[in-house]
Amino acid sequence: MSKPVITRFAPSPTGYLHIGGARTALFNWVYAQRMGGKMLLRIEDTDRERSTQPAVDALLDGLSWLGLDWEGDPISQFGRAARHAEIAHQLVEAGHAYKCYSSPEELSRMREEARAAGKPPRYDGRWRDRDPSEAPEGIDPVIRIKTPLSTEIVVEDHVQGKVVFNTENLDDFVILRSDGSPTYMLAVVVDDHDMQVSHIIRGDDHLTNAARQIVIYQALGWEVPEMAHIPLIHGPDGAKLSKRHGALGVDAYRKMGYLPAAMRNYLARLGWAHGDDEVFTTEQMIEWFDLDALNKGAARFDFAKLENINGLYIREAEPEALYEIMLTTAREVERTGDHEGLGANRETVLAALPDLQPRAKTVLQLIDLAQFIYATRPLEIDVKAAALLTDDTRAMLADILGELEAVTEWSVTAIDARMRAFAEARELKLGKVAQPLRAALTGRTVSPGIFEVMVLIGREETIARLSDQVKKS
Ligand code: GLU
Repeated sequence: MSKPVITRFAPSPTGYLHIGGARTALFNWVYAQRMGGKMLLRIEDTDRERSTQPAVDALLDGLSWLGLDWEGDPISQFGRAARHAEIAHQLVEAGHAYKCYSSPEELSRMREEARAAGKPPRYDGRWRDRDPSEAPEGIDPVIRIKTPLSTEIVVEDHVQGKVVFNTENLDDFVILRSDGSPTYMLAVVVDDHDMQVSHIIRGDDHLTNAARQIVIYQALGWEVPEMAHIPLIHGPDGAKLSKRHGALGVDAYRKMGYLPAAMRNYLARLGWAHGDDEVFTTEQMIEWFDLDALNKGAARFDFAKLENINGLYIREAEPEALYEIMLTTAREVERTGDHEGLGANRETVLAALPDLQPRAKTVLQLIDLAQFIYATRPLEIDVKAAALLTDDTRAMLADILGELEAVTEWSVTAIDARMRAFAEARELKLGKVAQPLRAALTGRTVSPGIFEVMVLIGREETIARLSDQVKKS
């Protein structure tokens, strides 16, 4: 029987879940789902300054919003320091690691000499074979691993293929500091082993670390997990992803009105492909996902593509669910007026949504489009709409007011019939009538069908909004 698949997402808390981390988490999650396994969450919180509770909460919130759930409680790496130290001492006893008493001055001299000799600045292994009885007094040693000499460490990677490192370039690196705290290299190996991680999926900035970690695995006689080092995300111009390109926390995307399912879809496409499929459900992603199909080249972040995909998800979303997201978003971005307006007009907003959905790419745009429902009179008219309200069109609106007052049954069909007859009698195209109406009734040039708008806001409000504009002439 093959081993159960256990993946892990191991972020260091930075105060938010950035887009690259979100993608790493997604791949770990999808792969675990695909294989009927589980994803664990380990918080690499050994940097005590940065690892505040709010920073950890921001990570958990980001993952939860994206719908990426992990098994069990998050594991604190810092909380496992005693275990890391235990293993370091075990390695010393087994002769795979040793105590090094070199002082900081000695180490910097060593580096300078190496540099002067044109060699890479590496620790020269001077305590590697020294007898412990030579240890100077009063100095707390560090513990260094004995990296095998003149050999090769091979990283068999699902994405990078076979990557060979010469151990001459790895040196006897520190695994336990003189204060007894573990280095990152040791902590990761011990944690992954104890958590029974079967697959390590992370950014390819960790590829060299992988070689060092394998040195530790081998010293301990532990099985090395499978590895997949995924290329980092670049901006559309090929440069490293920066804020300008969209290297924001996922919370920023939530506030801009992106849907978690759309984010999952888009993030999956950053470095993974299934044929030419651009849009797929999370279920399909799980069904199709394969580590060996991850791309070796850097993925390019494309905001416009993300926006398009989000638009598709908004179009397909259930109005009820979307309405709730609109409410939460309005509150979160402190658009109080919108939050109240949406809250007080649930039924009307729900009725309008199927018409609004195809017109919006983000939830914020959707809220903007819904504003006509709860806008207060006299309406604010935007510049484009104002240009449609001339003396002539205002005079026409005055006539339309009379027509509408005569409509007995306030329905789209009845209003439509009346307005068509009105346009025909004046030999006007329907658009010539509809556009000024839209400007007066919504303050904008984009809205659902104008007769639908009239029915949504009701007869009284329609007449009142039109009268406001007619009076201005
Ligand atoms: N904590 C590391 C990071 O945030 C990840 C370590 C790992 O995945 O092994 O980059």
